[in-house]
Amino acid sequence: MQGQILEPLEIICKKRDGQSLSQEEIDFFISRYTNNLIPDYQVASFLMAIYLQGLSKEELFYLTNAMLCSGKTFDLAGIMGPKIDKHSTGGVGDKISLPLAPAVAALGVYVPMMSGRGLGHTGGTLDKLESIPGFRVRLSFDEFVDCLLKNHMAMIGQTEEVAPADKKMYALRDVTGTVESLPLIASSIMSKKLAEGMDGLVLDVKVGKGALMKTLPEAKRLALAMIDIGTKAGKKVSAFLTNMDEPLGRFVGNAAEINESLDVLLGQKVPDVYELTCALGGEMLRLAGKVKDLEEGKSQIAQVLSNGRAYAQMNQCVVSQSGAFTLYGEDFSHWKLTNLHEEVQYIYAPKSGYVTSVDAYKVGIAGVAMGIGRMQKEDDVDPAAFIYLNKKTGEWVNQGEILCTYAVAKDLPQERRLRSQYLLENAYEQGEKAPSPKTLIYEVIQ
Ligand code: URA
Repeated sequence: MQGQILEPLEIICKKRDGQSLSQEEIDFFISRYTNNLIPDYQVASFLMAIYLQGLSKEELFYLTNAMLCSGKTFDLAGIMGPKIDKHSTGGVGDKISLPLAPAVAALGVYVPMMSGRGLGHTGGTLDKLESIPGFRVRLSFDEFVDCLLKNHMAMIGQTEEVAPADKKMYALRDVTGTVESLPLIASSIMSKKLAEGMDGLVLDVKVGKGALMKTLPEAKRLALAMIDIGTKAGKKVSAFLTNMDEPLGRFVGNAAEINESLDVLLGQKVPDVYELTCALGGEMLRLAGKVKDLEEGKSQIAQVLSNGRAYAQMNQCVVSQSGAFTLYGEDFSHWKLTNLHEEVQYIYAPKSGYVTSVDAYKVGIAGVAMGIGRMQKEDDVDPAAFIYLNKKTGEWVNQGEILCTYAVAKDLPQERRLRSQYLLENAYEQGEKAPSPKTLIYEVIQ
């Protein structure tokens, strides 16, 4: 193969016919595409060939590496100490990064957190952070390193320079029916994470109605594929398979989820958010070599959530990344949800009974219709719109009682208003028997 002239069409046909591609072929295809030397229609065909034929472990590593090398990588070797991040495959009400990063940072681990925007019905940490007035998610590399050194954490957005091949391919996947492909998801996530310069990564692979992966076996295959890529790249990687049938916490919304995260940082035990923060944080401490096992890690995280140290760490990070703003005192109350929300509406229980499920996907797309997420890539999000789940699975509700509360902008078009109402009404299921308690963490793969 060495020295042979490569043709995109031959590479596409090889994959279409189920043959393996070499590293050279994959590198050639991805670098030419990044430089606009292969047209979208050929790349779409390549993506469909991967979707249908899959990739071997070797091919998957080569693809991830080619995507990683299409852009800039961060070199954090100058920061002495373990640098550990967490990544979630995406969910609804998934605000875990917000209490997690400061809790882990408060225990001496560097957390270089590079987050994305909302994708489809799932929320993005970046959109949530931007609801904090003045918060800067775009930092130069030097500012990012300064923040990390000063606060043990920095929360920034994926820049244009990180894995540009992924950015182009993701947009194409979105319109060619190739989003739901295990190798394409794994390479997309890991190429961006490996660019961050971390030493270890804890993956939160969501499973269920509101997740990309609907079943446990699918989620496990994705987790194992990502662990394999990370390990080959010399990183320590663990994965948690966690429940995303129902939104996490009670709030879905950008500013609202910041507020709920602050509650957790102030010691309030919002049950599922708290449990997952302790578990994922505990594992981050284990990967950093700070504790002997996950249990010890969990209890250390629980401690800093209850003694105010994690909250103080978050405050320090917000001050660093937004200038003069502080979470303490008057300033904080200025952007508290109550001052932001617009027109409040309610969904009432049509009958008495237990709530047997709250469909995370329906809540997520209701959120998109309300402006919490985006209908089109270019749309702005509404930081103030929110959904509050007055009732969650397993709780009793009387006929006519409020199931959920939601707030939308006064000028939200009527059809979007009606769509969100319809979706929220249909997100709830009720029954006469209490459902069995849900499992939050299905499996930990260390
Ligand atoms: N998140 C990503 O970054 N990429 C995917 O393909 C899916 C989820």
